[in-house]
Formats: sequence, structure tokens, C-alpha cells
Amino acid sequence: MAKAVNTLAALSQQLRTGSVSSRELTEDSLLRIARLNPALNAVITSCEDRALAAAAQADKALASGDVSPLLGIPMLHKDIFCTRDVRTTCASKMLAEFIPPYSATVVNRLETAGMISLGKCNMDEFAMGSSNETSFFGAARNPWDTARVPGGSSGGSAAAVAAGFATLATGTDTGGSIRQPAALCGITGLKPSYGRVSRYGMIAFASSMDQAGPMARTAEDCALVLSAMAGSDALDSTCSDQPVPNYAETLEQSISGLRIGVPKEFFSHHLDAAVADAIDRAIKELEQAGATIVDVSLPSTDLGVSTYYVIAPAEASANLSRYDGVRYGYRCENPADLEDLYTRSRSEGFGPEVKRRILVGTFTLSAASYDQYFMKAQQVRRVIANEYDTVLDNVDVIAGPSAPNTAFVLNDQSKSITDMYMEDVFTIGANLAGLPAISVPAGLVNGLPVGMQLIGRRFDEARLLNVAHQYQKRTDWHTLSPDLGGLV
Ligand code: GLN
Repeated sequence: MAKAVNTLAALSQQLRTGSVSSRELTEDSLLRIARLNPALNAVITSCEDRALAAAAQADKALASGDVSPLLGIPMLHKDIFCTRDVRTTCASKMLAEFIPPYSATVVNRLETAGMISLGKCNMDEFAMGSSNETSFFGAARNPWDTARVPGGSSGGSAAAVAAGFATLATGTDTGGSIRQPAALCGITGLKPSYGRVSRYGMIAFASSMDQAGPMARTAEDCALVLSAMAGSDALDSTCSDQPVPNYAETLEQSISGLRIGVPKEFFSHHLDAAVADAIDRAIKELEQAGATIVDVSLPSTDLGVSTYYVIAPAEASANLSRYDGVRYGYRCENPADLEDLYTRSRSEGFGPEVKRRILVGTFTLSAASYDQYFMKAQQVRRVIANEYDTVLDNVDVIAGPSAPNTAFVLNDQSKSITDMYMEDVFTIGANLAGLPAISVPAGLVNGLPVGMQLIGRRFDEARLLNVAHQYQKRTDWHTLSPDLGGLV
């Protein structure tokens, strides 16, 4: 274990004072990726030439006095974001050779802010998974212990940041895919409110829950990046036009007097006892910072996972119908006729977890099951969202664990499919309700990171980042990084 590498905020300072150039930072990152990625498989496409060209541009802008906070800083994108002229696979055979003709809004915004994209991160296929093991490109590994998973679906992004490839990677979160891998890799990850960040050009999984967000070392870094990522977009009608605050400006506010709700259902039998202790200590720390801790209840917490696994597959089955072997993506060899083309392209192009979701989703949307499953799940979703809203009328922020356990071993045969789905038992509620939530490093159990989750009111990312930052001022969990000496 070592003390922290640089944060994005620190690199930004160094770039502006000229003590380092964007070219140097970019070369350092590329070298680190070349050295460590064979052991971690966190990056599936790297863009050396483009990155170096962009860094040269950034150095010119810096020399001419441009002080934009993200200018010249290297970063990575989850491979779910379309990047113009750069392969975008969603970690699927279906898109293994797909080169998009346009970039996602998130990609464009961070590029406009001057960030240098180094490449694309591994993930679970079509963002379906909690371990990064469903990737067509093989599992990514957890830098804290390469026999263990980094979490998922944004597992490559989390592993890349934890291993110091870059200070920032983008992620997406439909049921927990930013927060759970952030927790398992000991970094900070923010899932914004639904509609805070444009989904344009982000390959769709479950459109009513998908959100993009920053994965970084600190809440401060997430604040800097969210300010650039968020905001209305004419290309995504579900993206809100609420003004985007400067999230960095409110980080230093005192949290004294703030009310923090702790749901008793988050400390259920699902939660590992040692993780529970770490989260208890983290919550005490918030109390010592002046917050008032309030016992609250979210009685339908246990219904979240089953509700999600009706709604998300239903939406996925519709979204994934576009991969038909005709328009783009994988096409089977020598189809006998059109039916054979559809069947074999999809059978050969999708992996088992994706097929499972398509089957479940197609079933629950069928005329005979729609009322019984899909409608019912939508109703339970409303109940869950109402419970969160009622609690958040009375408290400013909800606190609890991000994940029920620390990183588990790869290919864990004792873990069933439904055990895997339970990884998101504490994170899924925020997606169903559209609320912002963040995971911050909050301890180590047997040398593996634990994440505390904070959930806020809709569009109140500023408060979440403020509480997370104040916690990080009092603790140093976010400054720890794994010892990677043995991997080289
Ligand atoms: N683990 C959940 C799933 O497999 C969530 C994934 C996500 O948030 N993209 O669907």
C-alpha cells in the first residue's frame, strides 16, 4: 500500500504553473498503461498517437495562458461511450469492430474542456454485470489483488484509476456500475441524478436508469469533472436543462447541522460484518464533523433488485433489438436467409449474460406477462422512489454501504447468478428513483477497500460532493493506493 498518487486537481495546478507539461503527463500515463495493463486488462483500446497530438495542442493552449481546469489532463473512457473514429465495443463481440462516426456528448464535452483521451476501458458486456467477467475481452483485474474482480460494470475504469493510469475515467451506472466498482477498487465514483448528464452517444442498456459519471480519486476531482460533463443537450430529450452549478465552489461548506439518514435496511443480513463496522466508523466520522445522524427506514429496499431485474432487461431487450446483423455490428458468415442472418448474428454476437437479459426482457414484455411483471415492477419502482423522497424530505443525505462485500475472487463458482445480482442491493434504489449517489473510500478489510455510499436529493449533487469532500478532508482512505510493484 502506498500514499496517493496525484489527484486531478493537483495535476491541474502543476500544468498551470508549468512544472509539468501535458505531453509529460500523457507519456507517463501511456507508459504506465503499457507496463501494468497486461496484468490488469483494464484498458481494451489505447490511442497513443491521438493522445500525444491532443497533449501537444493542450501544451500550446497552456502556454498561451488558458487556465481551464481540465486542460491537458489525461483520462480514459468506459468503452460504452461512442468515440468518433475510435473503436467502441461495449466489451461485446457484437461491436468488436465498430468504429462510430460520431462521439458521445460526454466525450465531446471533456474534449472541449481540454482533456486528453488515452483510450477505452474494459467493462461488462453491454454494462451487464458486477464483476467485469462478462466482457468479450476477458475480465479486468482488481489492482489491490489481481486474483479478485474490480467490480462492474465499470470495472476497467475503476481498476485504471486505482492503478494510476489516469486520475479520471468515465463510467456509467444503471444499477450500481459506477459505485460498486469504485468501492471495490478504493476510488471515488459519482452517479449523477437521472437527466443530469446527456446520454447521447452512450450505448443504451436500460434507458430510464442509465447515467454517466466521473470515477476519480477524490470528490473534489469528481466535482471538477461533473461541472464539465453535465448540462442540457439538444441531442438527448431526457437530459435536464436545470443550470449546472460550479460544484467545486461549495465543497468547503461546513456540514455541521446537516441531517444524515442511515437506513436500517442497509445493515441487513446481506452486509458483511466487517464492512458494516467500517461503514459505522465512517458515519461516526460524519457525526464528528457536526452532522446529525438520523435513523431512517427504506422498507422496500429488498424489493429493489427484483424490480430492477424486470425493468432493466425489458428496456435492454428493446434497446438491443437494433443489433440484427444488418445495420451495423457483427454479422454471421454465409447466412442461408434473412431469418438465419438475424438468428445467427445475435446468437454468435452476444454473450450468455446479455442473452439471458434479452430473454427475460422479451418474456416480461410479452402480452401474457406484461401486467403481471412489467406493470407490477413499474408500480413497485414508484413505491421505492416515494420511500426515498419521503426520507429525503427529512434528511439532507442518506449514508450506508456501497456494496455488501469487498472484492471477491474471479470465477467464484460458489456465487450464483442471483448472488451476483445482489451486489447492487444497496445501489439500485438510487437508479430506480433517479437520485444522485456517490461512493467514497471508507476503509480496508483484510487489505481490500470498502466504499461508503451517500445518496442525495434529485439534482443536489453539490451537497453530495460537499459531504464527500468534508469526509475526505478528515480521512485518508482515498489517498491509499495498491502496491503494484509485483505486477511489472
Ligand atoms: N450490476 C447491474 C447489472 O448487471 C448494474 C449494471 C450497471 O449499472 N450498468 O445490471
